[in-house]
Amino acid sequence: MHPLNDIFVQSAAIFLELATSEFMRYILAAAGLHLLLSTLLKPLVRRRKIRPAWPPKGQVRREILASIRSVLVFSMLSLGAVWAVKAGWTQVYREADAHGWFYFGISVLVLIVGHDTWFYWVHRLLHDKRLYQGWHHLHHRSFNPTPFTAFAFNTGEAFLHGLFTPLLILVLPVSYLALFVFSVHMIVRNTVGHCGVELFPATRGGRPLLGWLTTVTHHDLHHASPGWNYGLYFTFWDRLMKTEHPDYLKHFSAAVRAEPMKRAKPVALSIAIAASVFCAAVLSGSGRAEATETAALETISGRWVTEGYGAVVRLQPCDKAPMELCGRLDWIWDPASGSYLGMEMLSGFRLQGAEWRDGEITIPGKNQVFRSTIKVLDHNTLKVRGCALVVCRKQTWRRLESLPHIGLR
Ligand SMILES: [Zn+2]
Ligand SMILES: [Zn+2]
Repeated sequence: MHPLNDIFVQSAAIFLELATSEFMRYILAAAGLHLLLSTLLKPLVRRRKIRPAWPPKGQVRREILASIRSVLVFSMLSLGAVWAVKAGWTQVYREADAHGWFYFGISVLVLIVGHDTWFYWVHRLLHDKRLYQGWHHLHHRSFNPTPFTAFAFNTGEAFLHGLFTPLLILVLPVSYLALFVFSVHMIVRNTVGHCGVELFPATRGGRPLLGWLTTVTHHDLHHASPGWNYGLYFTFWDRLMKTEHPDYLKHFSAAVRAEPMKRAKPVALSIAIAASVFCAAVLSGSGRAEATETAALETISGRWVTEGYGAVVRLQPCDKAPMELCGRLDWIWDPASGSYLGMEMLSGFRLQGAEWRDGEITIPGKNQVFRSTIKVLDHNTLKVRGCALVVCRKQTWRRLESLPHIGLR
């Protein structure tokens, strides 16, 4: 295949994968919260509904459709980020503990505080009357928001919000796990902030127990009176810039009806249950992914002959990352290259869909490294594709045991 066609096909596949997982995250969080509010948290809805009115019919449908468009915009930006990672332009790294768990915690914190800051200023810009109508009006059509309002943005607004992560990874060293934790936190806070029921704990006096966090009432007020409360996760930018609604605390107190902490405990319990359900869903998802990887690793492990009987490579899980695929040189045709036996020829392949991708193949004795993809055609045949810059090559590899015996041990 022509190298440019190859890049196009790869981009399309990555885009599809990104868009699917982005949409799944959105719909899981929004629908999950909606479900919780109509079942487990139902008693709370009666006591802690912020406004008596319900959103008009048809609003959720409109919000989901708009959110699908936002998901496509986010995924285009993420695709750019994926190519930037492949080109080595970003600071993203694989092993979460590569710089220690303390740095991991700090990096997640920087992502969250950085995003809150980005959001606050972009949001204020969007409320400028020159931008508001074309860039932000759609989000405010949801005067009485629902969890599905979370991604209901105009295209330009989605672009500005989605730009944060691709830009930050150019300068901040972050692991994939940190980005995942950040994105789960983002969608949970975002959907909760639009759910219309005050889920945050209150003090005996009816004030927010965690005053530095934006509560549901905080963002709900932004939809009711758009000139106030621009913050996403924290209240400090609104307080510093004096854009917090003057009656915010009164509204919060009315929403929780000044219930004493004792009676507010079921709220904390419900939040804990909701959080556990969410974590269990995420963990079981990753557990399933791990089982798939283990099975795929078992299938591909063994000795493989490269095209033209040039070499025999032993494919196996990587020593340092047991869920990734590596390969050592077991035998080579040219006796002069005997010193390369045992070298790690393949490294860092990760299972993505039906293919092992993003790995590297080093050619023994030559200073050449190919970014490669391996596809299992059947139990005894692999299709190996490698590209160095824009030059791509393809080979068929055969399982050693499937070939006529020629005296190899
Ligand atoms: Zn909103
Ligand atoms: Zn707004």
